[in-house]
Amino acid sequence: MKAFSAYHRRYLYKTGALIVFFSVVIIGLNFYSIKILSSIRAYVNGESQYSKAQKDATRYLIDFIQTSDLQSYNLFKQELQVPIGDRLARIALQQGGVDTEFIRKAALQGRNHSDDIDNLVWMFKNFQHFPYFKEVVEKWTAADRDIAELDNIGKFIFNLKSKELNSSVKTAMILHVNTINRRLTFNQQAFSSILGDASRVVANWLIFINISFILFILIVGWLFTKRTFRQLEESRMQIIAQNNAKDEFMSIASHELKTPITSMKASLQILERFVKNSDESKQIHPFIINANKQVNRLTGLVNELLDVTRIQSGKLAINKKPFLLNELIEEVIHETTQNRKHKHIIKNLSQVYVNADAARIYQVIDNFLSNAAKYSEEADEIHIWSEIDDNQVRVFVQDFGPGIKRDKLPHLFDRFYRIEETQQTVQGLGLGLYICKEIVENHGGKLGATSEVGSGSIFWFELPVEFKVLVSGKKQVIETD
Ligand code: ADP
Repeated sequence: MKAFSAYHRRYLYKTGALIVFFSVVIIGLNFYSIKILSSIRAYVNGESQYSKAQKDATRYLIDFIQTSDLQSYNLFKQELQVPIGDRLARIALQQGGVDTEFIRKAALQGRNHSDDIDNLVWMFKNFQHFPYFKEVVEKWTAADRDIAELDNIGKFIFNLKSKELNSSVKTAMILHVNTINRRLTFNQQAFSSILGDASRVVANWLIFINISFILFILIVGWLFTKRTFRQLEESRMQIIAQNNAKDEFMSIASHELKTPITSMKASLQILERFVKNSDESKQIHPFIINANKQVNRLTGLVNELLDVTRIQSGKLAINKKPFLLNELIEEVIHETTQNRKHKHIIKNLSQVYVNADAARIYQVIDNFLSNAAKYSEEADEIHIWSEIDDNQVRVFVQDFGPGIKRDKLPHLFDRFYRIEETQQTVQGLGLGLYICKEIVENHGGKLGATSEVGSGSIFWFELPVEFKVLVSGKKQVIETD
């Protein structure tokens, strides 16, 4: 059993470690996947700022070519700062990205959101050699070359003063600017589409890996549960087999013990008769009395064991016949309490007939009374009474011993249960109340106990009433449900 549980524990740890490992991997994977997707979103966002600024700059440059309005030129220069900022950040990153302050300033100039900058830098540093990202950087570099050309065209016209340009040169210039603009737009579309592809690939992988890992954890969990159930079932079967073996042993042992005990008892009776007439009668008699007492105790214990084996095998015979319960109670008190130090006080006994096995009910009352005496050594009295409630008769046995703690009460009627405190001082097997419970329940009755620590306990059992006896002596039928 010990080896089995050590094995079971090892298996539990291994499975637990596997589940923890895969859960950590899933958490890490999701964390980085979300970081990658957020970084891609930051690049897409940066690209849209870049593209908007480039389009506005182109529009202002064409305005400036047509009208020579300096305000248009200034606006052109202002919008151009956005792609220029991005370019400065890119070059710094390509050179190792050491000057983080410079990169941050350049990225802000490129109208990137300040919260996105860390992700932009992180992705550049970690993915610049990945095919998708390499392609993105190539498109970006090509776009920056076109931006530089637009900047040069603006500076050239600004220096020339547009008055010196005739209308055909202006038209040619505008055509050239438009061509660059188209090229830039094409580049930006390619840039966005590569990022889109990359995010789709990441998302697909993420879904695939997540589903695979979750399936793996579910399969491991299912296998673990299946195996645990199998092991539980195996140990249940083991316990049942052990219990059966123990019951069988108890049955054989108690049957085997019965014969020598009976023979011992008979021998003692013969011995007693012989000794009575001898000269040493006085000296020997106490020993015979003691031997008889011990043989009776042994008989009681063996009978308890035999009853338990009968209960376990479902062979506890109950032979019901109607009898007067109050008479039986008086009989038990009279026969079993002669030599006990307690005074047995009958407070009230309802006159009722019950349809039951008198010998078995005798056994229950005897057990309650002997327990009351055994477990209240210091007290002087034991009270007995019965009450009729509805069509049930309830018999009470009250002692004034140390009582029983509330948490122990539900276990009193369990097989082999004994309260630790009394175990050392009072002998017993913890079977009496268990047998009582089986007997009473086999009669369709109930039993229980109430107790107060320091004041004593009341044990009771209840049986269905067959007839109630009227004072006149006639029987009255009590209707039963
Ligand atoms: P046994 O008396 O042989 O040990 P029982 O089944 O008759 O077995 O009782 C089970 C346990 O319940 C006892 O060991 C004892 O601890 C407790 N018990 C029973 N009756 C009383 C009582 N009247 N007062 C206190 N404890 C009791």
